[in-house]
Amino acid sequence: MHTPSLPERSIEMYASVTDRDRIERLRTLADSLSDVRVLHVNSTATGGGVAELLRSIVPVCESLGVRTDWLAMDATDEFFEVTKAIHNGLQGTESPLTEAMKATYRAVTERNAAEIGDAYDLVVIHDAQPLGMLEQFRETMPNAPCVWRCHVDLTDPVEEYLTFVSGYTSRVDHAIVSRSAYEANVEAPTTSVVHPSIDPLAEKNRSLDEETIAAERDRMDPLSFDAPLVTHVSRFDPWKDQFGTLEAFRRARERVPGLQLALAGGMAGDDPEGLEIYERVAEAAVDDPDVHVLADLPDTRVNVLQRESDVVVQKSLREGFGLVVSEALWKRTPVVGSNVGGIPLQVEHGRNGYLVDPDDVPGVAAHLVTLLEDADRRTAFGANGRAHVRDRFLLPRQIADLFEEFVDVLDRDR
Ligand code: UDP
Repeated sequence: MHTPSLPERSIEMYASVTDRDRIERLRTLADSLSDVRVLHVNSTATGGGVAELLRSIVPVCESLGVRTDWLAMDATDEFFEVTKAIHNGLQGTESPLTEAMKATYRAVTERNAAEIGDAYDLVVIHDAQPLGMLEQFRETMPNAPCVWRCHVDLTDPVEEYLTFVSGYTSRVDHAIVSRSAYEANVEAPTTSVVHPSIDPLAEKNRSLDEETIAAERDRMDPLSFDAPLVTHVSRFDPWKDQFGTLEAFRRARERVPGLQLALAGGMAGDDPEGLEIYERVAEAAVDDPDVHVLADLPDTRVNVLQRESDVVVQKSLREGFGLVVSEALWKRTPVVGSNVGGIPLQVEHGRNGYLVDPDDVPGVAAHLVTLLEDADRRTAFGANGRAHVRDRFLLPRQIADLFEEFVDVLDRDR
């Protein structure tokens, strides 16, 4: 296990984007957790939404006086092949789950758990990768409740994978999901919903001066910000459906001459499929000078891309929550997204973007054209998006919700 590096954060830094009573509520909850030591465990320090969330949650909790550590797993490629199959199985992909895979999973999770020397009062296990540590947590920290924080889309899991994961989750104290529709598929003593959030102070989301924006725009040449631009930011992953976005873009371009598409993507440390999907996406775009496949951009550049695009697309087939949607809306960019997982929590159809069925490529194209041809609508949707995220999907709200869950679980345990 290793401790990822964390940025400097304090709750005061959020005063300009958070109502006073919200900050007060947070402080009160933090006071009741001041004698509690919390551990978050997940599979990777980089890439993907969970690492993005923890990087901000952990230092803010610390600044509120709730002692909080984050440990990310050390694991082999073989382990991540297994856990990606579990992730995909939970989201609905049929593939074999063999005894050898289960043995790899157990060996690596047990080895990681054995490396944790400190004791904690509450453990939060993020997603399925570290769940195999549960047994050892029970032995080494018998008084610490364990919470499973599930970030994936559990709308339609494959039975075999759900059964495997339920073997662990049925023994946690509580499970938290990102959307109420997922609760029905979680086998745990109790469940609740906490919506994720973005950190408005993160490099990816903070406001930028004109000079920085201009410099980053130049660095993305030959991508032009003077011609219409649609952007999709996601890990290269089958569920994110970059191919569907590409098809919708090509249809929209027939109506909007000069339209460009930026497909920005990263390879998360725990995601073995990234390179293969990246290569397939790059291949599909190779003869198209209007399509720009951008891999592993620094956060400032992702910020500029989301901010300076005319429309952002999130054409996922499954999506636990989809932080990228709030990231774009926060920057006043309207979003055309699939009506799956956490996307409809964020996209308000006809107010800050449009929702379409996940296989409706012509629908995506039509909404893109509507927005690209109407600058006033984009401005109005942008303002609505900013307000929606400010109200519902910023970090202080999520931390308050998590603290409430922690207080409940600890009270029950006592
Ligand atoms: N991300 C990034 N660069 C990329 C692709 C993704 O920084 O090239 C970030 C993205 O901005 C977001 C996170 O990775 O903060 C992805 O979180 P999301 O919840 O959208 O999806 P997940 O990867 O967890 O399925």
